[in-house]
Amino acid sequence: MNAPAMNPDLQFSQSSLQDFVDCQRRFQLRYLLRLAWPAVESEPVMENERHMRLGAQFHQMIHQHLLGVPSERLANMLHDEILLGWWENYQAFLASDLGQALNAGQPTEFTHLHPEIGLASASLGCRLVAKYDLIVHTPSGKILIFDWKTSRHRPKRTSLSERVQTRLYPYLLVQAGAHLNAGQPIHPSQIEMIYWFANFPEQPESFPYDDRKYAADEGYINDLLAQILHKNAAASPLPGSQFPLTSDEKRCRFCAYRSLCDRGVQAGTVDLMDLDDEDTTIPITLDLEQIGEIEF
Ligand code: SF4
Repeated sequence: MNAPAMNPDLQFSQSSLQDFVDCQRRFQLRYLLRLAWPAVESEPVMENERHMRLGAQFHQMIHQHLLGVPSERLANMLHDEILLGWWENYQAFLASDLGQALNAGQPTEFTHLHPEIGLASASLGCRLVAKYDLIVHTPSGKILIFDWKTSRHRPKRTSLSERVQTRLYPYLLVQAGAHLNAGQPIHPSQIEMIYWFANFPEQPESFPYDDRKYAADEGYINDLLAQILHKNAAASPLPGSQFPLTSDEKRCRFCAYRSLCDRGVQAGTVDLMDLDDEDTTIPITLDLEQIGEIEF
């Protein structure tokens, strides 16, 4: 049987590339075969759906605030305790040294804010895309990438540093962000990637960028794309795929395909996530990011 043709509309985002890194079979099922599988990713379902909905609402509120809607007006519309807590934490963050880079939603003529902005470039014939929560061009010439996280757990720095997002976002900003820098090429050393956690507001994580990281990330991303292209060309439909199941079965507890892969039926619970390493907390926020990228 012929290998499935690569979907010409397939865009490579941090979510899809992270899926390939975490489990090549999941990447194949989700993005190449586009197989919808009716299973929940984690329990309790209602609680997780609510958490994702609140996360999406929180992102929208920050977006509106950065576009100039007064904070008090946004806060008056809130009736959910979790969301209120996140919003208070965000207000405190704006008063912090780091948050002042945003000028509390009132940028000066020298500070440019680009909330909810998408960038794209091409490599090896593949389209790379990213949707940024916020890019800030500061008066000193620094360019800060902010990413808002509403996950219940705070990932360790080592875990975050290994995420595809931490590598793809600064790389793509250098590749495709010149129009945000008055038409001038962006130098890697101008960039800093910052994760801010709504549940851990005083513990942001920052990753300065430089030439060495840019070169390493270019190699890393191109290697992932080359692997995918090669495997797709050689792949036959399931079973016996070139895209193997992950050997880390902890990942399967929070994956919708677990019954298809014969890796169990029952979804993992949020309580169990507390016992796991930080990476297993990512799928809860992953879908939110995927929604944003699909829109982009
Ligand atoms: S159930 Fe496990 S092996 Fe199957 S796609 Fe999901 S993570 Fe991969």
